[in-house]
Amino acid sequence: FRLEPSDPMEAIDGALQVVGAQLRLENVSISVSGASDDLRVLCRQDQLEQVIINLLQNARDAIRDRRRSVGMDYLGAIAIEITLEHGDTNAPMVSISVKDNAGGIPDHVLDKVFQPFFTTKPPGQGTGLGLSVSFGIIRDHAGTLSVENAFEGAVFTVRLPALHEPQ
Ligand code: ADP
Ligand code: MG
Repeated sequence: FRLEPSDPMEAIDGALQVVGAQLRLENVSISVSGASDDLRVLCRQDQLEQVIINLLQNARDAIRDRRRSVGMDYLGAIAIEITLEHGDTNAPMVSISVKDNAGGIPDHVLDKVFQPFFTTKPPGQGTGLGLSVSFGIIRDHAGTLSVENAFEGAVFTVRLPALHEPQ
């Protein structure tokens, strides 16, 4: 893989090929919306794919936890939403967000999620490296990775500068 203009939707598709089957096995439904149109991001596609995989695995873990603790039946509900959007034409950018419905992240945890080795998972189940590595990958691509709590759960958003594909 080299740094080359790539369609961000391909990275999303690639990530889903890696974790999609496992999510379906756990009855975690995924929706993908949006389009990249002619916008391309300058990146190593395998690295962008890895970031999306990390976000999907975290969402999966959070949903698994949530189901365990509240015994909530999420069957039939859309559990993870991936949304691809782009900004205005003056400063072309794309954003990829991964949103779950697992209840969100407590404030005292929210401050630390991007720190290396920070994890709330039991020993052996989390290295606490997924988000700090992802943060570094996106920063190296001149983008940002941020998190916020939405109504039902956490939303992680990758923003990357983009270019228009020459016609
Ligand atoms: P790990 O997954 O190994 O714990 P990460 O760096 O991927 O390490 O994530 C760090 C921590 O951030 C997790 O342990 C968890 O507490 C929190 N976190 C990440 N994603 C979510 C999410 N979607 N919902 C709730 N908490 C999350
Ligand atoms: Mg993780």
